[in-house]
Amino acid sequence: MTKPTVHIIGSGISGLRCAENLLQSGIEVKIVEMTDSIGGRMRTTEKNGFLLDHGFHVMQTGYPHSKAEIDFNALGAKRFSPGAKIIKSSAGKTKQYVLSDPFRSPISSISALFTQKWSDLYNIAKLRLSLGLESPDRIFEGSDGTTESFLRQSGFTEPFINEFLRPLFSGIFLESKLDTSERMFKFVFASMAKGDMVLPRGGIQAYPNLIADRIGRERIELSTPATPIDSTTLAIRGKKIKTDQVVVAHPQRETSDSMNSVWTVYFSTPENSIKGNYILLNGNYEVGKNAIAHIAVPSNIQPTYSPSGKSLVAVTIVGDAAIALDLDSDESIEKQARMELRDLFENSDTWQTVEVFHTKNALPQSESQSNASSSVIFNENEIISCGDHTTHGSMEGAIKSADHASREVIRRLGISA
Ligand SMILES: Cc1cc2nc3c(=O)[nH]c(=O)nc-3n(C[C@H](O)[C@H](O)[C@H](O)COP(=O)(O)OP(=O)(O)OC[C@H]3O[C@@H](n4cnc5c(N)ncnc54)[C@H](O)[C@@H]3O)c2cc1C
Repeated sequence: MTKPTVHIIGSGISGLRCAENLLQSGIEVKIVEMTDSIGGRMRTTEKNGFLLDHGFHVMQTGYPHSKAEIDFNALGAKRFSPGAKIIKSSAGKTKQYVLSDPFRSPISSISALFTQKWSDLYNIAKLRLSLGLESPDRIFEGSDGTTESFLRQSGFTEPFINEFLRPLFSGIFLESKLDTSERMFKFVFASMAKGDMVLPRGGIQAYPNLIADRIGRERIELSTPATPIDSTTLAIRGKKIKTDQVVVAHPQRETSDSMNSVWTVYFSTPENSIKGNYILLNGNYEVGKNAIAHIAVPSNIQPTYSPSGKSLVAVTIVGDAAIALDLDSDESIEKQARMELRDLFENSDTWQTVEVFHTKNALPQSESQSNASSSVIFNENEIISCGDHTTHGSMEGAIKSADHASREVIRRLGISA
């Protein structure tokens, strides 16, 4: 008996995950991808010995799926230090201090008492304890407002929100007002407390590559844009193709207005220009005045990210912060980044720009009251879709949506799981 075949449009992490699930259930798959590479937004390219993720990107080991299923050892993943370093300049002087997770680094978090209010550290600990006990499903069913209003209701002070929480979560949600759903904040915060932010040895694309190898690259057709027509028909280069089921694993173009954007400027610096394994948050972050939310040194975590003797520095500028300063070109973004870096690092004028990435459709907005669960009900004959735009903007959201979509395919094709 011939196996049923499913055509999946898009080879991002959701398309790949969906394909792997279907193959494991005895269903044949064909993935069509419009670009010349797999991975979608989880893409890495090599330039002059540097590994450049298309936008600074980490994997979270504390996300439920990631924790249960990803073999981080196989990816050679290494972690950032839990917590963050805040870097602040004032009156020509630069100050740096570490804010660690009080449960994992009690000693270094004591030093935070010299720079932070007791109440903020107490509120972080309280949130950490209460969210640590909640399941992700409960969080996504819970109360909802914006992240900003939730942080204020939780009693955090203005300086703590603006110097720590805003630059950190702006860099995660890719929007600076913190209008993102409070549920999403709670989910990310709880996951961060349960795990680490890690980078694979081969760049962020190493994970999609691993799945693509397991699926078999012969099942993936690159440089092949496709259009879904109905649940069992798609068009490739003007030709209609009949299949047993179509799965669309990419956001629709018309949703791009509801996607957040981000700029990443990569610099090559002399080795050890910035020491340590923390993410550096801009303690001066103020939309309309400056643009850098955070700075990371991927090569301090994974030396594979830079050639020997050099470091790779990633500077993240969230789309709305760029718009507030009328920055809309690679040149203007690079100039602004250099101007702000000069206040923070003595020798930054000697750093060389490696690349500027502008990711326009980086993350779907997860506004409050939006549906961030994967319990979308598909109408019987509609095209099945997956991707982070159907759940929430993260690798975890994309994978969860793929699991949901593949279960629906299996049900429709009458395959017993
Ligand atoms: C800069 C940046 C930083 C991020 N940081 C993090 C992070 O730290 N942690 C985290 O968990 N998540 C992060 N994310 C989010 C994460 O990358 C995404 O949630 C996830 O990769 C989305 O996967 P997807 O499969 O839903 O969509 P995509 O990755 O967008 O895949 C869709 C694929 O479909 C293809 N395609 C589109 N149209 C067609 C067509 N007509 N025909 C054929 N192919 C088509 C596209 O080329 C693409 O390859 C970040 C994203 C960005 C951009």
